[in-house]
Amino acid sequence: MKRILLPISLIVFACLSCKKDTGTGAGSTSASITALSCGSGSFSAIATAGTAYSATATVPYSGGNGVSYSAGTAVSSTGVTGLTATLQAGTLASGTGNLSYAVSGTPSAAGTASFAISFGGQSCSLSLTVNASGGGPTLPAVYNKIYGATSITFDGTWVTIKCNALPDHKSHYYPVGNPLREVFSGTTFSGVTFMANPNTISTQNITLKIPVAPAVAATHAATPMGVIGVGLNGVPLFNQYAAGGSPLTGEITSFDQWWGHPQQTGMYHYHVEPLYLTTVKASKWALMGFLLDGFPVYGPKEENNTDPTGLDAYHGHTHATIDFPSGIYHYHFTATAPYLNGNGFYGTAGTVTQ
Ligand SMILES: [Zn+2]
Ligand SMILES: [Zn+2]
Repeated sequence: MKRILLPISLIVFACLSCKKDTGTGAGSTSASITALSCGSGSFSAIATAGTAYSATATVPYSGGNGVSYSAGTAVSSTGVTGLTATLQAGTLASGTGNLSYAVSGTPSAAGTASFAISFGGQSCSLSLTVNASGGGPTLPAVYNKIYGATSITFDGTWVTIKCNALPDHKSHYYPVGNPLREVFSGTTFSGVTFMANPNTISTQNITLKIPVAPAVAATHAATPMGVIGVGLNGVPLFNQYAAGGSPLTGEITSFDQWWGHPQQTGMYHYHVEPLYLTTVKASKWALMGFLLDGFPVYGPKEENNTDPTGLDAYHGHTHATIDFPSGIYHYHFTATAPYLNGNGFYGTAGTVTQ
């Protein structure tokens, strides 16, 4: 007798609860919770823009009153549209537990789909990240000109460029046995007689993070010593100062046949026009690279073979280029100081690890 009676009483109790309790209903037997944690919510699948999506979202709550509840109505996504989240029927725990939502639809775009969910007297906004189709945002083609980078990645805001600082041209500074070693003598940049420094080129591990949408800075930060940008061949660009902030004059004598040299850790770099890029790989008026603030660097000429005019305190100016037809601020290499950059970055610089 006991074995039969107990299940019957449970079924009766459950049916009464079904009639009375809904997610938003009032009354002493309504489902209620004391907190709903959208921030700790999770989704069972990754969403991609334009691709049909079906997943379960799990949202933790606390303070459940042990009452059952029926399925909810569909909540449409905002921000990224095209999805709905629908509460699945269930029974609250007495205390903490999880609500389940069936999420489906086709997200309209990459970004964040938000669902304003409300249950048991609590509400919050549940967010789903929708990825771009094709694996991520598309890197603007101009960055592909940096052919010497070991990798270039893009998250939609930052372009992350990794390079090893090994020049793709011969140098007096490659170690003996390296096929790119070529002993040099004679005159270098600005007609100075070459005199080697004691350093040898070695592989570096440099990561530059630069903004894809460079913007003028309210305060123009000074350029740091070391890497301030990167050339198309993955060789770092340095500013117009030698170690300790002294003028570059004393270092020019150690520039090799292509007008670069390594510093004490073996990091090869250019302070002045990268002669290999302006005469072999590209041209005097071509894109040479980017500084950390995201603004591009051009050679010592304009596209019509004239010298740049009206360079400002930061050693740049604004006009259209073949890479940026609608116009952009850009730096120019020049034959005389400050050679590349003037009184600091024109824009807000990204970061570099070296
Ligand atoms: Zn140097
Ligand atoms: Zn220009």
